[in-house]
Amino acid sequence: MINQIDYSKTSLIDVYGEYCFSDSVMRERLPKNVYKEVVAVQTGGKTLSKESAEVVANAMKDWALEKGATHYTHWFQPLTGLTAEKHDSFISPNGDGSVVLEFSGKELIQGEPDASSFPNGGLRATFEARGYTAWDTASPAFIKEVGGVRTLTIPTAFFSYNGEALDKKVPLLRSMVSINEEALKVLRLLGNTSASRIVVNVGPEQEYFLIDEEFYNKRPDLKLAGRTVFGGMSAKGQEMDDHYFGAIKERVNVFMKELNSALWKLGISAKTQHNEVAPNQFEIATIYASANISVDTNQLVMETIKNVAQHHGMVALLHEKPFAGVNGSGKHNNWSISTDDGQNLLSPGDSPAENVQFLLFLTSLIKAVDTYSVLLRLSAATSGNDHRLGANEAPPAIISMYLGDMLTEILEAIAEDAPLVKKDGKLMQLGLTTIPSFPLDDTDRNRTSPFAFTGNKFEFRMVGSSQSLAGPNTMLNAAVAEVLSEVSKRLEKADDVLSEAKSIIKEFYANHRRVVFNGNGYSEEWVQEAEKRGLPNLTNTVEAVSHLTDSEYIELLSKHKIYSREELESRKEIYLETYVKQINIEGSLMVEMALGKMVPAANRYLSELLTSISQQKQFGIKATELEKVAHELASTINMTISQAKTLELQLKKAMEHEESVSDHARFTHSHVVKAMDALRVSGDALERLTDTSYWPYPSYEDMLFTL
Ligand code: ADP
Ligand code: MG
Repeated sequence: MINQIDYSKTSLIDVYGEYCFSDSVMRERLPKNVYKEVVAVQTGGKTLSKESAEVVANAMKDWALEKGATHYTHWFQPLTGLTAEKHDSFISPNGDGSVVLEFSGKELIQGEPDASSFPNGGLRATFEARGYTAWDTASPAFIKEVGGVRTLTIPTAFFSYNGEALDKKVPLLRSMVSINEEALKVLRLLGNTSASRIVVNVGPEQEYFLIDEEFYNKRPDLKLAGRTVFGGMSAKGQEMDDHYFGAIKERVNVFMKELNSALWKLGISAKTQHNEVAPNQFEIATIYASANISVDTNQLVMETIKNVAQHHGMVALLHEKPFAGVNGSGKHNNWSISTDDGQNLLSPGDSPAENVQFLLFLTSLIKAVDTYSVLLRLSAATSGNDHRLGANEAPPAIISMYLGDMLTEILEAIAEDAPLVKKDGKLMQLGLTTIPSFPLDDTDRNRTSPFAFTGNKFEFRMVGSSQSLAGPNTMLNAAVAEVLSEVSKRLEKADDVLSEAKSIIKEFYANHRRVVFNGNGYSEEWVQEAEKRGLPNLTNTVEAVSHLTDSEYIELLSKHKIYSREELESRKEIYLETYVKQINIEGSLMVEMALGKMVPAANRYLSELLTSISQQKQFGIKATELEKVAHELASTINMTISQAKTLELQLKKAMEHEESVSDHARFTHSHVVKAMDALRVSGDALERLTDTSYWPYPSYEDMLFTL
């Protein structure tokens, strides 16, 4: 159902936000006092009164009915990492066979999905199946349209009877409260009286692959696991670098047009799109917004990419590594904090005083990232991302920060009390007395750093393409909030705030500069250098996630009321369980594909080869080379069968560790994944040796070079 808008007839301005119950819609449709109340609620000032909730619900219902909706849903983000929704219609029977259409304030504000089947990691006893959803007033309601069916969708947070977070959104919102408090304290102490709120800005860049649905339908691995568990790279990969920023193909262009329209209707600011590095890989970026809004809109972007691709006979792959041998997909999380009056706290100002503020926030971030690098690392840990992080072309699993040469030089000079010679030969007096203004050159980009300063924001590049952005931003906010709380305590006690701020800058940088690295993050030397510096290198999900309940992290996250111990324990359990399940699916698939189709296909081809060889011999032809091929094929068939059997056995053995999810996950990582890797090598060799007309699955060449 291709749904293209002709923008020469319909103004983009009119299309934009058509399906979004935005601030401007509310201002237009709500009585002034109610509108004001909603705005106050959105900025955290107060809670919505029952009366106003009725008014808002009614206005929302009328608006939704005009747009053609018959149902509403509370939309939430359970720990599956996906989104969930349960639809209710607006109808309410009159008793005489007719209905009225209703939507109450209570229905708007709170929902009670029967949520017993969502993962809760032991947080909710099975008899207490009740979960609650509550409207996140700061994230606008919208009309979700799928196959022409429109539903009023209300972004909500999901929690248990006791108020425990059952989703990814609640902790994120809590972390925003925390960073707001701590950053404001610091600003006040620095003399800022105008800011009343801190906004966490997040701008996501989303990568994905598109393939023709005909191929997708023939690949059980893509259908069930989201990635190819077998498949040899085609003769051509990405080595020509001809896809990145290349001209967008017609079919993709048409798809992107519909994608943009669908997002714009939702009031989602789709801005940039381009071809990515790998063949058939693309990227879309939306303009940054408050973290909770970007988390929601990014989920919608992912859903919309998938839906719209189908209209064009394609399937969008959001997995971190759908294809071995070419780039994987990530999600760049651009992050900054600013004041409600528009001052970016990561933006160097023009005056020395502003630069003290900038350097204080910057070095606080350096300390936060160094101290809590494990939390950041584990926030990006999934079985899918394991194929990306630490693989040669992806950001490494080591957290480091890129600051660029100039900023690094300035900070080094401060740390060493050394004068800094500027490039034009002029002396810049730094030291402790003055921190002069400096121009920032943001042209210097490092694409290999997992955490890069890009002028006035940091770009966290470790996040996987299919992941929710909630987790990474929660951890980042928490770490920064903690360091800022230390800063405000010190500034409070100081007689001279400015000079204390300067000593903090010096000290934080001196103690944490080990995390700063401006070189090539993909190089082997860096891995060794990072080890020397004592930076953690957690190369897989099991290792990373296991740290979630380390005492220092429980302390940090519970102190800031972001996660309680129980909430952390439940998440660790769920994430490890998810890992095990995912690997189990992939491993079982490999056995099935290898023994069920690949080996039989190769065997049929072997039989053809052998027939031909014996015919040739009868005819007096020495088929020596062909015989070698037959031998190699026969031994690869053998190898594949035996490795499939080994994998089958390891999958079975893993089940013996079912009692403890940690043991199960560890065994899965060390034994099952290893057996999968071995089977993949012989399976891919089998594909290379077998006549393509016998091969049961579309090849990498088909999937990556057809659109
Ligand atoms: P890149 O060169 O990495 O593609 P862009 O300037 O295109 O960088 O921005 C990428 C993303 O960063 C976009 O989503 C953009 O809205 C976002 N972004 C820009 N400024 C900020 C900021 N101050 N805070 C957070 N995100 C930002
Ligand atoms: Mg970027």
